[in-house]
Amino acid sequence: MKVPILLPNIFNYPFTYQSDSNLKVGEYVLVPFGKTKMIGVVWNHFEKNNQKNFHIKKILKKLKVKRLNENTIKFLNWFSQYNLIPKGMSLKLHLLSNEAVEEMSDKEYESYKLIKKTNNFELSEEQEKSLDELKIKNKEFRVHVLQGTTGSGKTIVYFNSIKNKIDKGYQGLILLPEIGLTSEFEKKFIDFFGFAPAIWHSGITKKKKKIIWAGLNNGKIKVVIGARSALFLPFNKLGIIIVDEEHDQSYKQDEGVIYNARDMAISRASFENIPIDLVSAVPSIETYENIKKKKYSFSRIIKRYKNAQLPEHQIIDLNKYKLNNQSWISSKTIEKVKYHLENGDQVLFFINRRGFSPYVFCKNCLKVYSCPHCSINLVYHKNKKKLLCHYCGFASNLKRKCDRNISGSCKFTFSGPGVEKISEEVKKFFPNHKSLIFSSDTMNKKSSSNDLQKIINNEVKILIGTQLISKGYHFPNLNCIVVLDIDLSSLGHDLRGAEKNLQLYHQLSGRAGRAGKPAIVYFQTYNLKSDTISRLTNSDPFIFLENELQLRKKNNLPPFERFISLILTSKNEKKLENESYRLKRHLVKNLNGKILGPINAPIYKIRKNFRNRLLIRSKKTHKIQEPLALVLKKFEFSSGMKLTVDVDPISFN
Ligand SMILES: [Zn+2]
Ligand SMILES: [Zn+2]
Repeated sequence: MKVPILLPNIFNYPFTYQSDSNLKVGEYVLVPFGKTKMIGVVWNHFEKNNQKNFHIKKILKKLKVKRLNENTIKFLNWFSQYNLIPKGMSLKLHLLSNEAVEEMSDKEYESYKLIKKTNNFELSEEQEKSLDELKIKNKEFRVHVLQGTTGSGKTIVYFNSIKNKIDKGYQGLILLPEIGLTSEFEKKFIDFFGFAPAIWHSGITKKKKKIIWAGLNNGKIKVVIGARSALFLPFNKLGIIIVDEEHDQSYKQDEGVIYNARDMAISRASFENIPIDLVSAVPSIETYENIKKKKYSFSRIIKRYKNAQLPEHQIIDLNKYKLNNQSWISSKTIEKVKYHLENGDQVLFFINRRGFSPYVFCKNCLKVYSCPHCSINLVYHKNKKKLLCHYCGFASNLKRKCDRNISGSCKFTFSGPGVEKISEEVKKFFPNHKSLIFSSDTMNKKSSSNDLQKIINNEVKILIGTQLISKGYHFPNLNCIVVLDIDLSSLGHDLRGAEKNLQLYHQLSGRAGRAGKPAIVYFQTYNLKSDTISRLTNSDPFIFLENELQLRKKNNLPPFERFISLILTSKNEKKLENESYRLKRHLVKNLNGKILGPINAPIYKIRKNFRNRLLIRSKKTHKIQEPLALVLKKFEFSSGMKLTVDVDPISFN
């Protein structure tokens, strides 16, 4: 018989092979491809309009793996169409580095073995009520939003709802933003369930990946906690999906195959016909709109765990308490912080900038340090004694021959603070208190669990942190947060700037006062007139979201219109310019939608590649992806030109 086999490569259709035995859709097979062999899957359709009459090759063997279920195949087909990604590339997300994993020995799954534990986690009245609401209609597809104040115990509620499913023999998937995959979360899980979850992210070993892939395929692993890509794993009997911190921007994969894992999780749930729960303290605008339209059901936990109060907010007026030269902490702030430290509280200085200084230039020649491969300034990291590009990783020493000063090297000035600079200042003002920098440079290491413990034990008294700290950590003694420069003016090229700020400051505030002691968040600012701070810190985020949604509606922005970004990149600037206009003309002629641009992308050069952007705007009901795919197929790109399609873009860099 002839069978269509999809291979994990750049083709958008399956190839036809010959098989001696009867093969079912979803079977994993080994086939010859060119001069190599590849693993593919028996697909649910043949290539359309295939008139080529070439020699049909034979399938080499069928693999001993449970076949891929048809719902997942349908999901992968849809995923390709929606995101304009070749079907083969979608399959590649599912097949681990191009392989399907045949049986592994049982002892590999030992720690994941299901233990039926009865636990004595007591739920509050609100938690109980939310859990009941989660259980309504949870036998089929529906989207439920669990919104709860930070520190209100949302996790325990959805753990209960997963337990419910796995007790009935189903598997569960919990998606977390990569950054939330901490050992702390894993511990919480084991405490509750009595067995280990499979943890899935880009950093785990190849061996681990194989075990998890096979364990899900054969049903021996029950729960996966994973980042984005966990969505493509071969679940044998998936019964529920949870997307925790559903608003988090890191659900958007924005390099390589571009997709939004939250949205794709919803459609996977829909294809599998299973319930999905979106969890957040401050839902995204899209989710909020769907709650309003009653497309999603919704429950809410307002009270914090053990009735802890939300922190109070105070503004420190920098017009009154002036900052000294090269200083970023006001005298008033120091006074307040001293009070908290004497009270035994832990203090956090928040500044969302890694390194020492984001802007380094020479006093004599005025030349700024910028990346030779990207159009962006280099950030000075004093601890590493290096200037780093946060985009491409380029590193350089702080040494340069000066154009204006013949006698030698540049005289550097460091402008603007990063966490390292603040840390120096903190040490100067509070020399008797142990302090620690909390950023991706210091905390994403093996040794950081030790530091984490010291923070939890209140041995470290002062933290200087970037937004990494806003994600899900529980520090019982943290009762004072100082926001050093609340950056509201420069929302930049980002239509989600306001929404992002809301989520950030809510989550940040949520780190304080978790153990019941009164807590305060201080905002140092020059801008007192703006009511933004009070709107940002209002305990009911829906007021802000409603406002923002009305603004979007007025301006025909998503979620009211569909945006698709086309990013053209090339090493040749001139060629890129011409090609961008040629593509624009082609689109205008053939596509029914508004085409904006081309413009130089705000970060015009990344990794030596110049970048231009076109933006397509269309009605949501229009399903523009399909015609767009056809139109793009007809366009012949010149050599050295790369096109990236970003459906529902979040960042406009
Ligand atoms: Zn760079
Ligand atoms: Zn110089």
